[in-house]
Amino acid sequence: MTDRRSLIAANWKMNGTLASIRPLVQGVLAGVAKGCQAEVALCAPAIYLAEVGQLLKGSSIALGAQNVSNHESGAYTGEISTAMLQDYACRYVIVGHSERRNLYGETDQQVAEKFMRVQASGMTPILCVGELLEEREAGNTEEVVARQLDMVIQQADIAAFANAVLAYEPVWAIGTGRTATSEQAQEVHAFIRLRLARHDNRIADKIRIQYGGSVKAANARELFSMADVDGGLIGGASLKADEFLGICHAVR
Ligand code: PEP
Repeated sequence: MTDRRSLIAANWKMNGTLASIRPLVQGVLAGVAKGCQAEVALCAPAIYLAEVGQLLKGSSIALGAQNVSNHESGAYTGEISTAMLQDYACRYVIVGHSERRNLYGETDQQVAEKFMRVQASGMTPILCVGELLEEREAGNTEEVVARQLDMVIQQADIAAFANAVLAYEPVWAIGTGRTATSEQAQEVHAFIRLRLARHDNRIADKIRIQYGGSVKAANARELFSMADVDGGLIGGASLKADEFLGICHAVR
């Protein structure tokens, strides 16, 4: 089995202002500089990418964006292209977050297009998949996750996953305080890895699969101890430096 370096990525969503983001980044920088086993990334709101990029310069922490257009450029008012994100040295781009899928109607097809654009640009997509509560309760978790994943595999080809990160985020656990148990997470992570292995064993073995959904410093170690959980995508708990650092340091 490959040794996969865990990735802890902060997803600040639409939170913060310049005044709050500066001390937050400085706090995370100071904590990570003391030593951290995981790779750390901060996915900032687009308007703060320049500022956060400046603050992170020379550090080991990567800059990430929360969304990108599925188009290259042109008449798409309000959208942001991969080239624009590259101007600010973004390394990661979250695609297919459940808030984009469920609040803004992003389809599996659009998510696949975004994935391919990020991939082609040389940045690394963090592809989010996950089921709604009613889908889990109906016993459809694997079917939903497989549908979301298969669309990207079909469109982008399995080779594209050599430069990608996956995030399993059960929608019922996002921002609700209700975390999946480590066994529930492991079960779906193993399913995802197996699904990829049907196409390419090596890629399936190497790819990092993060867990996301109400991860806190208090539950991170247990989740990250599971064999197929390679770090986390962190929402609410990434807005406080101490809590976020507690999660980063839970990676052993
Ligand atoms: C997320 O938005 O990706 C997320 C996991 O949020 P939270 O940690 O707040 O549940």
